[in-house]
Amino acid sequence: MDSKSDWHYGKKTKTFLFKRKKNKGSINALNGLKKSIDTDNVEDTVDTDNVDDTVDTVPSPSNILYPKEDEAEAVILEISTSDNLNDTQNDEYLLSGRRIVDIAYFFKSIRRIKHKGFECSFSENMTLVNEKRNGFSSNFVFKCLICGVFENIYSEDPDRKDVYINMAITSAVINTGQGYSQLDEFTAILDMPCYANSSYQKYHEKLYSNLFDASVDETRLAGIEEVKLAIQNGEVDNQGRELVTVVADGALSKRSHKTNYNASSGVASIIGYRMKKCLFMSVRNKYCVICERASNTKQIVREHKCYKNWTSTSTSTESDIIVEGFKES
Ligand SMILES: [Zn+2]
Ligand SMILES: [Zn+2]
Repeated sequence: MDSKSDWHYGKKTKTFLFKRKKNKGSINALNGLKKSIDTDNVEDTVDTDNVDDTVDTVPSPSNILYPKEDEAEAVILEISTSDNLNDTQNDEYLLSGRRIVDIAYFFKSIRRIKHKGFECSFSENMTLVNEKRNGFSSNFVFKCLICGVFENIYSEDPDRKDVYINMAITSAVINTGQGYSQLDEFTAILDMPCYANSSYQKYHEKLYSNLFDASVDETRLAGIEEVKLAIQNGEVDNQGRELVTVVADGALSKRSHKTNYNASSGVASIIGYRMKKCLFMSVRNKYCVICERASNTKQIVREHKCYKNWTSTSTSTESDIIVEGFKES
């Protein structure tokens, strides 16, 4: 194409650049410029295109819409191309991001795949058609392109006896002193899918009851051991009751900045002096978010597992727990 007839080149473009600099930031000046360009040029259609382009690049608040429209168009185009790509790949499910897998089980599952009659191979004949996720565990569904058989490959053994991944993740989060939002951020950075907050709460509840049961059993066994040691050392009172030496203390978090603040929950424990094992522990809570929210909005409290078990002062929580411990001994 001749450089003079092509609108990319020639006098016009140079004029725009010069005028744009001169009238930078002024929309009135730009409108004036647009008019003058329209009258200057012979071919109207080419002119309009040109003017639009120039206006687009000028930093002025009134022309923000132009580049936005362009971006929207670009996005739509991008989506349509990726759809086309999917079609061409024979319905293969596209995976992205990272997953946690039980590596030995995962490789074993792949090696186990064998189809009688056809010597189908995993690498050549199997295609991934779906991924069914349950929190952090995945079931990858493969289809054999030769015999049409579907194969499920799990990220970990669904029948495993020990802690399942979702429970393990929840336990790890609690044991490192974190919460759901930290886990959410952590997995987002790792480009890994994460379960919802409601699921986290569900696993948290389950884990809590398991831990509670285990700790009750442990304290009961520790009590029996302490009693045995007391009898062996002849530490029995005149009525034949075993005398177990214990250490008791409570804790309550505080904040002081001009005013002294006490936390709404306190904890205390009784520890056997000989075995150094916990014989009793308890928590007092003055606050429950569900009860509090309901009372603020004057609504009926929905059914929930309420941890609020204290209404008196925060400082009295520790002594009350110790008293409860001695009563139950
Ligand atoms: Zn096959
Ligand atoms: Zn409550």
